[in-house]
Amino acid sequence: MNKPVIIALSKGRILDDTLPLLADVGIEPTEDLEKSRKLIFDTNHDHIKFIKVRATDVPTYVEYGAADMGIAGKDVLMEFGAQEIIEVLDLEIAKCRLMTAGFPDRKEPLSRRLKVATKFVGVTKQYFAQQGRQVDVIKLYGAQELAPIMGLADCIVDIVDTGNTLRANGLEPMAHIADVSSRLVVNRAALKLKQKTLQPIIDQMAEAVKQRKK
Ligand code: AMP
Repeated sequence: MNKPVIIALSKGRILDDTLPLLADVGIEPTEDLEKSRKLIFDTNHDHIKFIKVRATDVPTYVEYGAADMGIAGKDVLMEFGAQEIIEVLDLEIAKCRLMTAGFPDRKEPLSRRLKVATKFVGVTKQYFAQQGRQVDVIKLYGAQELAPIMGLADCIVDIVDTGNTLRANGLEPMAHIADVSSRLVVNRAALKLKQKTLQPIIDQMAEAVKQRKK
């Protein structure tokens, strides 16, 4: 029997938008991904299985070919800097922005480098370098908003959707770094070796995205 196609899905917020899109193209899990503690799921197609992983782990599974395809946010993909991943489609779901944020009336330090807290270390360094600025980037794994409040950093780089999380903590969005949405990604080798099975999925998803815009 041929090996099944493995699609890596980001758990959490993106999953809520991903499952309806997959359902649009007739691919549905046989049980509730949100409720189950399982990590591998059968679908209504014998040859397609889902794995449910952290958003930041989706590119890793696809990069090494442990998953053939995946759905991941552009923020995560930018930070990962993949070699073996092809971004085949903008799914136009889970849209948000990657931004700098801080206290609106706080002056920048003059006697030392700006300290920026973020989980997007690579993207942040690149962004400030493009601005011709050397900054100290402090890696955090969550709740970035806390860093300026506690004096750990001057500002943050984070995902902003409505901006409510920032404002609830007295911060404001400042500079726009990138628009973010979820992307369908495919492992380069898998796309060649399993093209017969992968290409129809890609084409159907492209069509579903198009239909949604009408
Ligand atoms: P908001 O308060 O609406 O600006 O949402 C901001 C928080 O929600 C951020 O801290 C993000 O971690 C999370 N968030 C919002 N949109 C997304 C998304 N599309 N993908 C991942 N996380 C998101």
